[in-house]
Amino acid sequence: MSPNPWLLFCLLLAAIAAGWWLGRRQGKGRFRNKPLPVSESLSFLLKDQADAAIESFIQSLDVRPATLEIHLALGTLLRRRGEVDRAIRIHQNILERKGLEAAQCAMVQLELGRDYAAAGWLDRAERMFQTVLPAGGPFEEVALQQLLEVYDCSHEWEKAIATGERWLSLQRVGQFQGREKLATAMSHYFCELAAIEQSAGRIAAMQPHLEQASRFAPGSLRVCRLQVQMALGLGDTGKALKVFRKHVLEYPASLPELLDVAERVFRSRAAWMDCLQEGLSRGFSVRVLNALAQALIAEGRQEEALALVTEQVRRYPGLQGVRALLGLHLPLASGQAQEHLQVLSVLLERLIQNRPVYHCSECGFHGQYLHWQCPGCKAWGSVNRIQGIEGD
Ligand SMILES: [Zn+2]
Repeated sequence: MSPNPWLLFCLLLAAIAAGWWLGRRQGKGRFRNKPLPVSESLSFLLKDQADAAIESFIQSLDVRPATLEIHLALGTLLRRRGEVDRAIRIHQNILERKGLEAAQCAMVQLELGRDYAAAGWLDRAERMFQTVLPAGGPFEEVALQQLLEVYDCSHEWEKAIATGERWLSLQRVGQFQGREKLATAMSHYFCELAAIEQSAGRIAAMQPHLEQASRFAPGSLRVCRLQVQMALGLGDTGKALKVFRKHVLEYPASLPELLDVAERVFRSRAAWMDCLQEGLSRGFSVRVLNALAQALIAEGRQEEALALVTEQVRRYPGLQGVRALLGLHLPLASGQAQEHLQVLSVLLERLIQNRPVYHCSECGFHGQYLHWQCPGCKAWGSVNRIQGIEGD
């Protein structure tokens, strides 16, 4: 195995610190005629034998209050560098030693749980974090946070909800900065349960989950989508329309994300077009513009559609708008003009192709689709449409 320079450097520092501490503590008598145990680690390090160095380090340096920080720091470092097996070895080694205080034990168990989670052993991580819960205080909060991540990762939504509820019950209002993020996550957990019922065809069973989801995140776009779909699934078009109208009135920017479900709630094309027209008047969106143009064309009003798109693209220039305009002009052109427009269309498609449509406000992830949970940072509800000249 090739030596890891950072690991070697950190082990070297740890070994020197431990050697200094032991030397000071033990005095001149006890180790006068034999090398300090940590010198073995140093020797292995100098020979680029990282595995042997770590093993020697573990064996040579007793876990005591004064050395606990060194062990923990090394374990954390190893985990962050992806060397999870070694981190586990170090944290297990600490736990095997007798005489740890309850708080120290909880601290090490949390680290070991993190190691397991990093290794993908979520069941072991879950058990380890659960053992920390009785410790109470800040340890309980951290353990709950870690458990929530485990359940989130393993898609165990009901357990995640129970853990989130318990975590929220520990917080004093105003002292928890992530409270809003947790509430958003909780709303999505209930939406996930509703989506499972929807997939299984148990449409009415979506209702209680959506009520809970709405309680945690009033005005949630996802809740609105699911509520509209549920009402349509139950054949209650009136309720679907009411839910949709209420949401869009309050959050007009969400209309583009509801177009696919919204069209079905309107009984007439005229009413649908009125809705789109109103949506455009409250905020520009190429998707809404396209939907309105297509509705006009379906009514045989091509020229009106062309005039509308031309006027809107002049007011709100952008690549997507130009593409929409080109798409309308192309079938109307003929001869050489059509050929030129065709070339332009191909070039524009290449320019737009693979350009991200959504981005995450938390980590900067860019993608083509709306993800309820960011694939990059796993935050819920942080992915939004890109707007402006390259966006919608
Ligand atoms: Zn992200």
